[in-house]
Amino acid sequence: MTPRLRIDPRVDGLPVSPTLASRGRSGELAAAGRRVYRLGLGQSPFPVPEPVVAALRAAAAEKDYLPPGGLAELRAAVADHHRRRHGIAIAAEDVVVGPGSKELMFLLQLCFDGEILLPTPSWVSYVPQARLAGRKVVALEGGGHHGLQLSPETLDRACAAADVPRLLFLNSPSNPTGLAYERDEQIALAEVCRRHGVVVLSDEIYGDLRFDGRHESFACHYPEGTVVASGLSKWCGAGGWRLGTLGLPATLRPLRRALEAVASETYSTTSAPIQRAAIAAFRPGAELELYLHDARRVLSFVLGWAHGELARAGLDVPEPAGGFYLFPGFAPLRERLARRGVHDDVALCELLLATTGVFALPGSAFGMAREALWLRLALVDFDGARALVAARDGTLDVAFLRRHVTATTEAILALAALARELGGRP
Ligand code: PMP
Repeated sequence: MTPRLRIDPRVDGLPVSPTLASRGRSGELAAAGRRVYRLGLGQSPFPVPEPVVAALRAAAAEKDYLPPGGLAELRAAVADHHRRRHGIAIAAEDVVVGPGSKELMFLLQLCFDGEILLPTPSWVSYVPQARLAGRKVVALEGGGHHGLQLSPETLDRACAAADVPRLLFLNSPSNPTGLAYERDEQIALAEVCRRHGVVVLSDEIYGDLRFDGRHESFACHYPEGTVVASGLSKWCGAGGWRLGTLGLPATLRPLRRALEAVASETYSTTSAPIQRAAIAAFRPGAELELYLHDARRVLSFVLGWAHGELARAGLDVPEPAGGFYLFPGFAPLRERLARRGVHDDVALCELLLATTGVFALPGSAFGMAREALWLRLALVDFDGARALVAARDGTLDVAFLRRHVTATTEAILALAALARELGGRP
């Protein structure tokens, strides 16, 4: 008898996450000799800062299992980082360290018995994680800037529906849009959350990459109900190291204990050498400050320039406040695209790949309607180590872009040229 196999319905048909799959697909095309601009996977272009690499080297021989919630010293460093940089008071014991914030957010969905509220658009993994955890997702329609941010009115309406516990995912600065909720917007949303007793998972993984360096946590405005997610992947360039954090308020301690219990029965603990190295990343230090300053300066310039180019070419593009992403909308070119047989964002991605070599992700991967024609671009196809060195003692201008951010710059120019051609602009 052949082995009997049945895949659980929660998993059956679940594809590999489109952002991670994009790495394979653009690699295949490049191997086939095509010039491909990799604007799919949102990975930091910058190297891990040297003091953090040195700390990992020094910890290579660490071999013990550590506590499921993380090393006490690291939890204290994370709590202190949140206090210094984001203005929030989280006790060291209420920090949970895990192998990536993605895993921790999944555990959170598993542990929280209630409804998941998800603004549209949102990061790709929240919905599949909800499905795996068996949770009901309520999609909240976007309002505000370009119709891409959650409004307090929409949230209020969703909370009025039934009397159940709710977990709202907020992400600022956002993947995919690059937009951030500013202080007054956070205060207004916090007021609604407090009124309805909503628990908020505030995904602040791009917080330290706000271009102006002024990230303010949602927990500043709703401390008693906010779980702050962060980690090393974005601001520290260490996505492949797999270290993420959650900071919970003391009011949610039963949730923290549940997370630690599930961690202890699944992955046990986060890699010991990585935890040791992470202490060096979260401690204050002049070298890290300089690294972050330069990284923000480069990203702000690259994204600001690209935003201007695409907006001038006639696309509907929100101006990003931080992170790696642009979210251009091709709706202004809808009729011209239709004449070329392009009616949705998947066909649009194919057209871009065929005509410009640019690999982008469709907005529908982030919950937008396919016909709305949004795309997500990760502007990270460049050698960040070289760009950081060049930026340190130089001015940032178009010559810098052409020399040090070459592939990404070519990709944006090619997209802008295509948009102009489609729109009949000179
Ligand atoms: N949240 C958002 C919005 C992200 O873009 C990512 C990474 N793409 C993550 C969370 C996960 O980060 P990690 O698991 O590497 O901490």
